Amino acid sequence: MQENIFWDSCLLSLEKRLSPQQFNAWIRPLRLIKEGGSLILTAPNSFTLNLVRERFFSEINRQAGLIYGSIPNFEFRVQESVSAAKVVPDLTTKAQPGLGIKPFTEISPRAYSKLNHNLTFENFVIGKANQLAFAAATQVAETPGCSYNPLFIYGGVGLGKTHLTQAIGNQIKLIKPDAKICYMHAERYVSDVVRAYQSNKFDEFKQYYHSLDILLIDDIQFFAGKNKTQEEFFYAFNTLIDLQKQVVLTSDTFPKEISGLESRLVSRFGWGLTICIEPPELEMRVAILLKKASLSGYTLDDAVAFFIAKHVNSNVRELEGALKRVEAFAKFHKREITVEASREALRDIIVAQTRQISVENIQRTVAEYYRLKVSELISKKRNRNIARPRQVAMTLARELTPMSLPEIGATFGGRDHSTVIHACKTIDNLKLSNESTASDYRILLQSLSG
Ligand code: ADP
Ligand code: MG
Repeated sequence: MQENIFWDSCLLSLEKRLSPQQFNAWIRPLRLIKEGGSLILTAPNSFTLNLVRERFFSEINRQAGLIYGSIPNFEFRVQESVSAAKVVPDLTTKAQPGLGIKPFTEISPRAYSKLNHNLTFENFVIGKANQLAFAAATQVAETPGCSYNPLFIYGGVGLGKTHLTQAIGNQIKLIKPDAKICYMHAERYVSDVVRAYQSNKFDEFKQYYHSLDILLIDDIQFFAGKNKTQEEFFYAFNTLIDLQKQVVLTSDTFPKEISGLESRLVSRFGWGLTICIEPPELEMRVAILLKKASLSGYTLDDAVAFFIAKHVNSNVRELEGALKRVEAFAKFHKREITVEASREALRDIIVAQTRQISVENIQRTVAEYYRLKVSELISKKRNRNIARPRQVAMTLARELTPMSLPEIGATFGGRDHSTVIHACKTIDNLKLSNESTASDYRILLQSLSG
């Protein structure tokens, strides 16, 4: 049992220090088991093993000090190695009492709701991408514990999961001011489990979570691999659901796709309603910008909203960020918020986006423009009415994609880079001497880069 909590706290701490890529590559594959009086840390290969030993052993030791009060015997092994040989017997460290052991932190008395009052249903713009999630969320807020329990909302970053979850809490609080509502990020729950253990206060911990009316936990993917946390959460979850108390969870992926989540949890998450939020479509992005501006107390011009929405299409958080940049730019230069000002303020976003244009997209657009087939464009045919558009397309590819000349050649029917250079030179010259080529090129460039 103790080794589970110890490992949860190691994961918690390392996850904060490393990038997600590093964490997934080096830490996630590690397994901790207890054998006799020793803790065995296994890694899938010796590379990972050595890296972990060199770079993270001191942190692992520090966590051991916090959890065990002393430092246990460690062994490192490569997973399923035939001999199960001890790779680093010399690193086995004996306890050094009093060294690096912090006083245990008490669980601070928790305020029931850590809600952000701005994240309400009124401030949430509805569109095709989120209408089902919105409907489910309002339903849950109206009849907590009785409609969908749990409500599980998943979707990519910045799409409004946290907003919707907090809106549920805010709405319930409005109707039932005395309801015990707890909103928290999953990371906070993990650290609560660890601290409850450290200060020997599991009873208090359980009492608190099991007595809630509404439990909202954000970014549950954070539980992955943290077994003790999952076990505790399993009990809290069952207790609350049995008592018809509402549970709302969010995650960045579908529950079944969260690797390192116990299957009994995954299956319970499916008991209620699992619903997805998609990236917002253009109209919705425009509506969100207009709404955000009106919340800040001014009216945004439709054309400006449309311009920003068209160029920032990934998620709502970036959309908000873009609007803030435009506002700051206009304020700083004492200018009105116009399309022109927005274009300047967002220049790097627009350039980066332009670079993402694919060569396939260029070929399609150019072929359409000259009424050719893409297959003709990349064929071996050399007649002028095909060769010229092909040269235009290659030149556009050089200008709009980060591809190298040989890469461009390869996508045009396996031509080599000297052909691409020749094409670009020809078109660059023609643009200067021939008005119709110049205008073709300008139109294509514009339509490709929006
Ligand atoms: P997630 O939790 O999915 O990563 P958030 O809920 O934190 O995303 O949303 C990111 C930002 O975008 C927040 O400021 C939120 O208020 C805003 N936002 C997201 N969706 C909407 C929406 N439909 N209407 C208004 N604002 C939204
Ligand atoms: Mg969130």
